[in-house]
Amino acid sequence: MPDVVQNTRVVDGQLYTLIGLEPYVRRDGRLTSLAVWRSPCATCGAPFEVRIPASSNRFIPNRRCQKHKQPGRRVNKSHAARTPLAKPANPRS
Ligand SMILES: [Zn+2]
Repeated sequence: MPDVVQNTRVVDGQLYTLIGLEPYVRRDGRLTSLAVWRSPCATCGAPFEVRIPASSNRFIPNRRCQKHKQPGRRVNKSHAARTPLAKPANPRS
């Protein structure tokens, strides 16, 4: 079980605070956990929560609350550039 040492992160000046872990069953049936981070929306400043796989080395969270996020548009373009042939945007993210 990975220990979460770091409980705050800053992405382009936006602060994310780790508030907990949630169990999560992946599509392949394996149990993992999601780290739940809270951050102020880049647009309105309202706190919102994002869930990132705890095992993931990448930290590419949403930058905006549910109200202001733009489905299908990712803030991080370098990630998309490294992915061969864009996959359809994950409607749940
Ligand atoms: Zn907002």
